[in-house]
Amino acid sequence: MRAEAVVDLAALRGNIRALRARTGPADVMSVVKADAYGHGMVPCARAALEAGATWLGTATPDEALALRAAGITAEQARVLCWLWTPDAPWERTVEAGIDISVSGGWALDRVLAAVRATGRSARIHLKADTGLGRNGAQPHDWPELVAAARAAEAEGLVAVTGLWSHFACADEPGHPSVPAQLTRFREALAVAEAAGLRPEVRHLANSPATLLLPESHFDLVRTGLAQYGLSPVPEVGGPDDYGLRPVMTLQAQLASVKQVPAGHGVSYGHSYTTPTDTTLALVPLGYADGVPRHASSTGPVLIGGKWRTVAGRVAMDQFVVDLGGDRAEVGDTVVLFGPGDRGEPTAEDWARACGTISYEIITRIGARVPRRYVGGSAADPVEGGGDG
Ligand SMILES: *Cc1c(COP(=O)(O)O)cnc(C)c1O
Repeated sequence: MRAEAVVDLAALRGNIRALRARTGPADVMSVVKADAYGHGMVPCARAALEAGATWLGTATPDEALALRAAGITAEQARVLCWLWTPDAPWERTVEAGIDISVSGGWALDRVLAAVRATGRSARIHLKADTGLGRNGAQPHDWPELVAAARAAEAEGLVAVTGLWSHFACADEPGHPSVPAQLTRFREALAVAEAAGLRPEVRHLANSPATLLLPESHFDLVRTGLAQYGLSPVPEVGGPDDYGLRPVMTLQAQLASVKQVPAGHGVSYGHSYTTPTDTTLALVPLGYADGVPRHASSTGPVLIGGKWRTVAGRVAMDQFVVDLGGDRAEVGDTVVLFGPGDRGEPTAEDWARACGTISYEIITRIGARVPRRYVGGSAADPVEGGGDG
């Protein structure tokens, strides 16, 4: 193998259990959008359900339909999908028993058209914009949306199964928008309840709110980053502080090791020049694989037990590391990031080095990198199961 992303499903299950222990009676929705933040959607969804998650969350309808196509039934998991456009596969989604987020009248109209076309009632979650400014109905539009949904429910066309919203700044403790959004969410719930809606779940919390704001848990929390074992609030605490373990390890085999003289330019643009006679190692991963070009001359890797830094530019398929005269062999393992307990950098270290967040580091790992699953269970056999 050139390179691989090792995905530890035992760690993922442990993370779900740690989150459930924290959220008490509230259920856990495992957010598996974007190919489970790069980890592989279906194996991660199955592992999360085994560990007690009862809901799955996706952004796009195609992601939600792929879960059902993989055999995850409505009895095994409710699936909520929240990013809709007019030409989305509304009918297939209604037929698949997927919960649909509705932020405005146009979306409710699409749902009702799909209900008429399929002869099946739909499950919908009304979304309020409590301050994020993305999707969701504004407070002045909320009563009308609620009334229209309630009328459709009375006709047996839909069931309003959820009321929900999303935080803007839950990762910044003390940010004034957090209590303001909680207040607006409670007001939106009160309007809906006064109109006669009795949803199965009211939900607001993402990973940072799940870890830091128990008052935001309501009936269900929607956890993405935390279930993949990374801290959404690295300034407040690391994974260990929350009982979490990073799930993905990104590693490769060195593709070249060679001696070069002092003053040798390295990679495009020669932004790095060897300061001494030294050894250069070639890592066969580049920005096509999701290694940020912003990691040029700053991304950390572990080779032969030592942290090294990317030397010069990250190219499409490869980057170079200056081993400072240390020996290494072609085929030796280079670890870009992992849980950290073998001394390797973490995705958080990469995020800091590249001026981004760990969400982006893991999610952008490209399709060219094969995923290898370890820590599978008997109930969920996967390649490499049991050796993690
Ligand atoms: C991505 C997403 C989440 C999960 O966010 P994390 O911070 O990764 O837990 C929850 N809810 C919505 C609406 C999202 O888009």
